[in-house]
Amino acid sequence: MNYDEELEELKKSHTYRKIPEITEKDGKYVICDNQRLLNLSSNDYLNLSTNEELAKEFMEYASDSPQFQFSSASARLLSGTSVVYRDLEQILAKQMHKDNALIFNTGYQCNLGVISTLMGKGDIIFSDKLNHASIIDGMKLAEADFRRYKHLDYNHLEELLKKYRGKYNKALIISESVFSMDGDIADIQKLVELKNKYDALLMIDDAHAFCSVDNNCAGFGGEYDVDIVTATFGKALGSFGAFVASNKTIINFLINKARPFIFSTSIPPINIAWTKWLLTAKKDFVLKQKHKLERLVVATHKYLKSADIETVSKSQIIPVIIGDDGKTVKVAEQLRGLGYFILPIRPPTVPPNTSRLRLSLTADMEFESVKTLIDCIRNEI
Ligand code: PLP
Repeated sequence: MNYDEELEELKKSHTYRKIPEITEKDGKYVICDNQRLLNLSSNDYLNLSTNEELAKEFMEYASDSPQFQFSSASARLLSGTSVVYRDLEQILAKQMHKDNALIFNTGYQCNLGVISTLMGKGDIIFSDKLNHASIIDGMKLAEADFRRYKHLDYNHLEELLKKYRGKYNKALIISESVFSMDGDIADIQKLVELKNKYDALLMIDDAHAFCSVDNNCAGFGGEYDVDIVTATFGKALGSFGAFVASNKTIINFLINKARPFIFSTSIPPINIAWTKWLLTAKKDFVLKQKHKLERLVVATHKYLKSADIETVSKSQIIPVIIGDDGKTVKVAEQLRGLGYFILPIRPPTVPPNTSRLRLSLTADMEFESVKTLIDCIRNEI
C-alpha cells in the first residue's frame, strides 16, 4: 500500500487523525471552528497554562532578568545550561525525595532516554500492558528483552518475575502511577514489595500525578521506595518539559549516555524559569488549584456512583468506553454540538475495541457543568 491508500484505510476504519481548528483558548474553554466549548480534552488539570493573570505576573518578573532567553541555542552539555536549570533540578530532587534530578525536553524523550539507556543486552523489563507509548517505544529501543504484565495484575507480574528474573542480569519494572487513558492508579507499595523480592529496579511514570495528587507539588513516586521517577511539566503544571529523579549514579549515567538528553537543544531558559517560578513563588496558588481539582474529582465520582455509572477511574481522568470507533467519533461530534470539546480516543492510543471519550477534569470547571455533561453522555450512548 502507498501512503494515500494507507490514509484512506484509516478514514474507512474511523481512525484517521487531524489537528483540530483551535483558534483561541480562554481559561477552561477553547474556541474551535468558531464555537466556544468547555475543554475536557486538556491535561492542564490545574488550569495554569491559560491563566492570564499568572502569565502577566510572570512576564513582569521575567522582564527583569536578561538571563531568561527564548532559546538555549545548544544542548545542556555544551552551553545550553545555566543556574536556573540547576536550581530547578535541585528543587525537583528535593520534592521527589531523591538524590538528583535531570531535565529532559519532553516526557516522551525522557521515558525513551531513561529506559533505552539503563537497560541493555542481557537485561529484562517488566511493563504494565497499558503503559504509555513513550514507555513502549523506550523498551523497543532498548536492547533488553521485555515482558508485559496484564494491567494492574500483580499476580501476573509475579508469575513473570518468577519465570524470567533469574535468567537475566538487571531487571526493571515500569508502571504509570495514574494511568493516562483509564485514570486508575497503580499499587506502588505492592510494586515496591515485588521489586525488593526479585531484586529489580522500579520506575514510576508520574506524568498524570505530578502536581495533581499530593500537597508538595510532587506526585506518587516520591512517596515510596521507587528507584526512578519520571514526570512531565506539560500537564498539571501548565508548562513544558520533563524530568527524571533518581540516585546520583543513575542520573550521572544518564547525563553521560542518554542520547535524547545529549543530542538535543535544551528547553529555553524562559520556560525553565516559568516552571521554577510556579513551583516556588506560586506554589501556594498551584496547591490551591490542586485542592479545587480534588473537590471536583470527589464530587464527580460520587455522582457517577449515585447514577450507577461504573468506572475504573480513581482520578481526574474519566474514560467513557464506547468500543466502536465510528460510534465514538459520532458521540464526540454530538457532544460538540452541545458545547463540549471532547476528542474521541481510538486505537492505537488505546487497545482495539476500547475506543472512548476521555474526560479530563480541570480545577476551574464547575461541578454542575460536569454533571450536565455526564447526563448528556448517558442520553447520547
Ligand atoms: N508519560 C505519560 C504517561 C503520558 O501520558 C505522556 C503524555 O502524553 C508522556 C509520558 C509524555 O509526556 P510529554 O507530553 O511531556 O512528552
